[in-house]
Amino acid sequence: MSTRQKITLILSGLFLVFFIAMIIIVSLSFRDFGIKSAEKRAMLTAEVVKSGLTAHMVNGMMDKRNYFLQQIENIDNISALWIARSPAVIKQYGEGFNNEIARDEIDKRVLKNGNIQREITETATKSTIRMTIPFAASAFGATNCMACHDAKEGEVLGAVSMVIDISDMRGSSFLTVGYTAVLAVIIMLLVLFVVNKFLKPYVNIFYSIRDVMLAAYNGDYSKRVDGGELSESKSVAQMLNSLLEKLQKVFDEIDKKVYIFVQNKNKEVSHDPLVNINDTIDKLSEIYKFKQTIEHDESLEDIYNRLAYVFKTKFEIKDFTIIEADTHSGIKNVVYSVNGCHCDLADGQCRADRINTIVDSTIFDDTCSKFHKPDLQYLCIPYSISNELNLIISIVTKDKEENFRVRSLVGLIEDYIATAQPAIVSKKLMQILNKMARVDQLTGMFNRKYLDEFADTTIPQALRSKTPYGILMIDIDFFKMINDTYGHDIGDEAIRIVSRVIKESIRSSDVPIRFGGEEFIVLLHNCDKEHVKDVAEKIRTNFAKQVISAGSETFSKTLSVGAVMFPDDSESIWKCIKYADISLYHAKEHGRNQVVCFDQGLIKNEEMKNSF
Ligand code: GH3
Ligand code: MG
Ligand code: MG
Repeated sequence: MSTRQKITLILSGLFLVFFIAMIIIVSLSFRDFGIKSAEKRAMLTAEVVKSGLTAHMVNGMMDKRNYFLQQIENIDNISALWIARSPAVIKQYGEGFNNEIARDEIDKRVLKNGNIQREITETATKSTIRMTIPFAASAFGATNCMACHDAKEGEVLGAVSMVIDISDMRGSSFLTVGYTAVLAVIIMLLVLFVVNKFLKPYVNIFYSIRDVMLAAYNGDYSKRVDGGELSESKSVAQMLNSLLEKLQKVFDEIDKKVYIFVQNKNKEVSHDPLVNINDTIDKLSEIYKFKQTIEHDESLEDIYNRLAYVFKTKFEIKDFTIIEADTHSGIKNVVYSVNGCHCDLADGQCRADRINTIVDSTIFDDTCSKFHKPDLQYLCIPYSISNELNLIISIVTKDKEENFRVRSLVGLIEDYIATAQPAIVSKKLMQILNKMARVDQLTGMFNRKYLDEFADTTIPQALRSKTPYGILMIDIDFFKMINDTYGHDIGDEAIRIVSRVIKESIRSSDVPIRFGGEEFIVLLHNCDKEHVKDVAEKIRTNFAKQVISAGSETFSKTLSVGAVMFPDDSESIWKCIKYADISLYHAKEHGRNQVVCFDQGLIKNEEMKNSF
C-alpha cells in the first residue's frame, strides 16, 4: 500500500470514528434534552392541573372539573392524563365521577411514597414518557389544603399521571443527526481532498527520492529525483540531483584513475562504481604490500619464492613452475617448482616463450610437444621481464574447470609479475655484476674471489654429501719467455688459448678458475683419481698441440699440472690447493710438460708439513 493510500486510510478512519462519536453524542444529548423538556412540561402541566383543581375546589366547582381536565389533555403531545385520589381522599370524598382511583402500580407507588415516577417507552415508531406527580397536602401554600382535607402536612392527597408523546423530539433529533452527518461527510471529503491535493506533491517527491536512493544503493547513480511542480520539492530535487551528479562523476573518475594502476584487464566490472573502486583499491593495496615486501628481499630466489607464495595462497594454484628464459642463449632455467617441471626443457625449446603467447591445453589438445602428461591440463604464460630475460609461468591443473579458473586469474598474475619486474631486473643486474666481479675478463673463467666463495659455500656441502673433487693446478712452462720474446699481447693470447683448451677439456659441472697470471685451478666435480689424471693429460696434450701466432711467426708451448684429490688428500680445500702447488712445483722441477699427482712423499720438509 502506498504512503498516500495509508494517509488517506488513516484520515478516513479517524473521520469515521469522529463521525460515529459525534452522532452518538448528538443523539444522546437530543434524547436527554427531549426527556428533560418533556419532564418540565409534565411538571408544569401537573402544577396547572393542581392549581386548576384547587381553584375548582375553592370555587365549589369540582363537578365541572372534567371539562378543565379534558382541555388540558387536548394540549399537544399529551396523549393521556388522569387523576388518582389517595385512599384518604377517597375515604373523605369518594372516588369522584371519573373514577379517580390509582390505575396502576406506578400510581399506587406515588400515592404511597410521594415520589415522582417517570417511565419512558420507546418503540420503532413512537416514544412516550409517562410521568406521575404527587399532590402533597400543605397548610402553608397559597391555599390551605387542610381547609378541605382531613390530612396532615405533606400527606399525599392524589397524583396526576400523564403520557406525553416525545416522538417529534426523536424525529427532530434524527433530522439534526442527519444534517450533522451530511455536513461531517462533506467536511471529511473536503479535508481529504485538500490533504490529498497538498500532500500529493510531497508524497510524489518522497517516492521519487526513495526510487533514486534505491538505485544509488544498488550502484546506479544515473537516476534523478522528479521535483514535481512545488517550488520546495523542486529545490530539494535540484539539490539531490546535483549531489547525485557529482557523486556519479567523481566515482567514475576515481574508478578510471585508480584502474590505471592495475594492469589486470580481466577486471570484473560491477555496475556499482563504488564496488569497482573498492575492488581496485583492494587489489592495489595487496599489490603495494607485495611490492614493498619484495623491495626488501635479498635475493632473486626470495622474490620468486614470494611470487610462488602469492600463487599458492592468494590464487590457490597448486602446481606450477617458474622458468627463466634467456632471450639470447635460449637457455631455460627452472627457478621455482611445486611438483617439479612437467615439461621437457632439455633442448631449451618452449612454445609459450617462442610465440610469446599463452599456451593453453584446453584450447587445443597436445598444443605443446614438450608436455607429456595427457591426464593433466596446462596453461603456460610468458612474461617479458627485460630484453635479456623472459619468465614463463607454467601452471598445471587436474581438469579443464580448474584451468578455466586459473585462466581468469591471468590478468591478476600479470599484475603481480609486473610489480615484481623492476625488482627481478635489478636482482638480475646484481647477479650479472656479482658474476662479473667473480669472472676474469681476459679468459671468462672464474677468478680467485669466486674460488673463495666456492670454498666457503660449496665445499662444505660436498664434504657432507661426500662428493669428491679432483683439483688441478696448471701453469704454462716458460711463459715469461713469451712475454719477453713476443710481447704481452701474445702472452695474453697464450693465456686465452690455455683457458679455451681447459674449458673444452672439462664438463659443464666442473669449475675452471684463473688463479693468477698464467696459473689456473680446475675443480673437477665428482671425479675419481684416474679420471683426474686423464683430464689433466688431456689438457696438457691438447695445449701442446696449439699453434700460437706471433705476427709472421708461430710457436707452441707446454704446460705442467699438479693434481690432487679432495677430500682424499685433505679435507681442507686450501690444503689441497697447496698440495696441488707442491705437485706442480714437482712437475716443473722434473722437466715440465707433465702431470704430477700428489702424494705425501712430495712433502719435502717437515716444517712445511707443520705449517698447515
Ligand atoms: P715456469 O715454467 O717456471 O712457470 O716459468 P715461467 O716463465 O712461466 O715462470 P712463471 O710462471 O713464474 O711466469 C709468470 C710470468 O707470467 C710473470 C708475468 O710476467 C707473467 N704474467 C702474469 N700474468 C700475466 C698476464 O696477465 N699477461 C701476460 N702477458 N703475462 C702475465
Ligand atoms: Mg709458468
Ligand atoms: Mg706461473
